[in-house]
Amino acid sequence: YAKSMGRRGYRFYAESLNENAMKFLQIEGCLRNALSNDEFMLHYQPQVCLKNNKIISVEALLRWKSPELGYVTPSDFIPVAEDSGLINELGEWVMRTACFQAKAWLDAGMQDFRVSVNLSSIQFKRASLLNMIKRALDDSGLPASLLEVELTESAVMNDVDHNITRLNQIRDMGVAISIDDFGTGYSSLSYLKKFPINTLKIDRSFIITIDSDPDDAAIVEAIIALASTLNLTVIAEGVETHGQLKTLNRFHCDIIQGFYFSKAVSAEEVTEMMQHPLNPALFEQM
Ligand code: C2E
Ligand code: MG
Ligand code: MG
Ligand code: MG
Repeated sequence: YAKSMGRRGYRFYAESLNENAMKFLQIEGCLRNALSNDEFMLHYQPQVCLKNNKIISVEALLRWKSPELGYVTPSDFIPVAEDSGLINELGEWVMRTACFQAKAWLDAGMQDFRVSVNLSSIQFKRASLLNMIKRALDDSGLPASLLEVELTESAVMNDVDHNITRLNQIRDMGVAISIDDFGTGYSSLSYLKKFPINTLKIDRSFIITIDSDPDDAAIVEAIIALASTLNLTVIAEGVETHGQLKTLNRFHCDIIQGFYFSKAVSAEEVTEMMQHPLNPALFEQM
């Protein structure tokens, strides 16, 4: 009797096993061979400079189409890749693919066109990171000045002294550093001054409400002013409307990234977009 109860208890547990945990295990299984099966692709999201209304750079964003699961979003599979250690191999693939693509754009005559690559905190902690980046630059022939890496606030804000050393090593290679999702972590503002960073990316959550929540507008305006004082470039992430663009322009934001201009698209589509100026109507009444 006890045994059957135990079974029932177990079955009950198994059946109600958290949907998220099931999904996690499923993704983990499919992720294992995804790289060798060539299931990944990089897309690139344009970043528009408000000084000249041109696309001046792109952020590389990973896309995965699994034969079993269909399209899986990075927010679902990156944590699994981090947990299983696959992120290192995957991250190296991303870095190499992005560098070779940026070099192809340079060879096609797109000068000063930068590519930005997301780094997981797991990659950032690895001793082999610098060599990995260096190999990607050397093998592709991409000048380091055309590469930027994105790290989240939380990735760099603990163990600050050690991380400053690591960030300096990246900067010494000539690679630019950007702080991603800025405003969501718990950065001490005084650290910002000590970090050898080039760019702050204001998190989308502040941008969404910039025209409806005066507090968020004030925060964004303050971040932009702070960045300007510290000589950092500011990028607003997740800009979707003309109203948001107008407000950010009034705050003197440097660069805009978001669906208002473009979602992440294939490398070919980026090349195509770069042949024509952006539609002037996008910038009307600024
Ligand atoms: P992230 O680095 O902050 O990238 C920006 C995310 O915001 C992208 O989502 C992008 O598609 C989305 N986005 C951009 N503009 C808009 C907008 O106007 N509206 C909305 N609703 N969304 C917008 P995505 O591609 O799904 O990536 C999610 C996150 O996954 C990234 O956030 C990044 O943290 C991670 N990720 C993506 N690719 C990589 C990668 O190659 N390596 C690592 N380590 N992480 C990656
Ligand atoms: Mg990013
Ligand atoms: Mg971000
Ligand atoms: Mg994010």
